[in-house]
Amino acid sequence: MTENFRLSEELELFRRTVRELAEAKIAPRAAEIDAKDEYPHDMHQLLVRNDLMAIGYPEEFGGSGGLLEFCVFIEEICRVSAGVSLIPVVSRLGSMPVMLAGNEDQKKELIGGVVRGDRQLAYCLTEPESGSDAAAMRSRAVRDGDSWVLNGQKRFITNAGIANAYTYFAVTDPDGSAARSTRWGSADRRRARCCSITTLRQPRTFSAR
Ligand SMILES: Cc1cc2nc3c(=O)[nH]c(=O)nc-3n(C[C@H](O)[C@H](O)[C@H](O)COP(=O)(O)OP(=O)(O)OC[C@H]3O[C@@H](n4cnc5c(N)ncnc54)[C@H](O)[C@@H]3O)c2cc1C
Repeated sequence: MTENFRLSEELELFRRTVRELAEAKIAPRAAEIDAKDEYPHDMHQLLVRNDLMAIGYPEEFGGSGGLLEFCVFIEEICRVSAGVSLIPVVSRLGSMPVMLAGNEDQKKELIGGVVRGDRQLAYCLTEPESGSDAAAMRSRAVRDGDSWVLNGQKRFITNAGIANAYTYFAVTDPDGSAARSTRWGSADRRRARCCSITTLRQPRTFSAR
């Protein structure tokens, strides 16, 4: 590493601590997890018990550390098991829209839940006919009084069936102009028609591959 970019002593200490845990507790399970193609609930609990699911989330929701800590943490888990590293990464993917656009109650429940270990999230953007071109999504969310009626199909959703909260993208305004744009920036602005997020606790059906 060059002099221009050196991690602080505190971060290096954090790296060593995560590495010791990963080598002692995750590495011995890694081959078995891959061979059995199983979801390692025990590894999720290990990360929770060691306060590692809190890394990279705001302190007000029980989190600690920033993005750099999160990268060091994931790097060290990946070093012994790419599969286990996805446990915090995928929940973070599902949490990101909540952090950007969720209300305080959602943040407390979902981000706090990830930190405490009682929530695992999934991020539902891709559909059978929309991948890179997310703005082509067909999922629709239609207002019905105080609620939304959501219809659509997703695929390739990591954590589907494991997660107990799903961040689901759907179009709320199919005729909206580009000027109205998206509520956050992942959809193609050329065709933006107001892409919204909602978080489901129990999707009725799920197309998971
Ligand atoms: C292991 C795995 C896990 C995943 N987990 C999730 C998840 O948790 N949540 C979720 O929402 N999605 C998930 N996905 C889906 C993933 O985000 C999509 O596969 C991705 O967005 C690409 O979409 P697609 O497969 O439909 O390919 P397409 O978008 O159809 O692309 C196919 C090919 O065409 C190329 N291409 C596309 N557009 C252009 C263009 N304009 N110009 C030139 N080339 C182009 C692409 O580079 C690619 O090579 C996952 C996918 C995998 C493989």
